[in-house]
Amino acid sequence: MEQDAAPEVDLIPADGGAVATGLTLRTNSETRLPGYFYRLSSRAQRTYLQGDSIERCDLVPTPMLRNALDALIRALDADNLSATTACAQALANEVCGLLGAPPVRVQVRGVRPRDSRSELHGLFHLYDPRDRKSPYIELWMRTAQRHDVVKPKTFVRTLMHEVGHYLDYALLKLDNSFHNSGFFKRESSLVRALFDSASA
Ligand SMILES: [Zn+2]
Repeated sequence: MEQDAAPEVDLIPADGGAVATGLTLRTNSETRLPGYFYRLSSRAQRTYLQGDSIERCDLVPTPMLRNALDALIRALDADNLSATTACAQALANEVCGLLGAPPVRVQVRGVRPRDSRSELHGLFHLYDPRDRKSPYIELWMRTAQRHDVVKPKTFVRTLMHEVGHYLDYALLKLDNSFHNSGFFKRESSLVRALFDSASA
């Protein structure tokens, strides 16, 4: 459904930070700009708002997508790390291919690293010019505390979260990939398309 443009509102910088000149801030009730926004460079603020305005990825469910998802769920059920890596890679390839982005490498590991407050679910590594390492995704298939295999839906959401970061650069050509509401909506649209393909 087409939505009206969000109303233009006055946003008062949270901590005295500046908003880039020439930027029209449009937001809606569910979008509140975080304090760090005002400390970003004007270029980064533009990137933030650009990314925030894109709310979906047009991933159309296909039988191939459904097969790739089913295979990944089976690999997790079987508690098989190498099969999970292969299937997560195949699913990411399928998603990237359907959206017109080049593939990205996926590496699945065992137990999630943790600190005192939280555990790491996944990471997206940017292209590293120092060692010319291509971007890649790293994610973990076991919980930190009990070493249980992560629930398939959680695992798939984490994978789509990291694929989402990759797509921000590779497909949307953004300079940066922010955790804004547009990003989380795009992540959800990917997850929805996958699980729709499963019930198709
Ligand atoms: Zn993230």
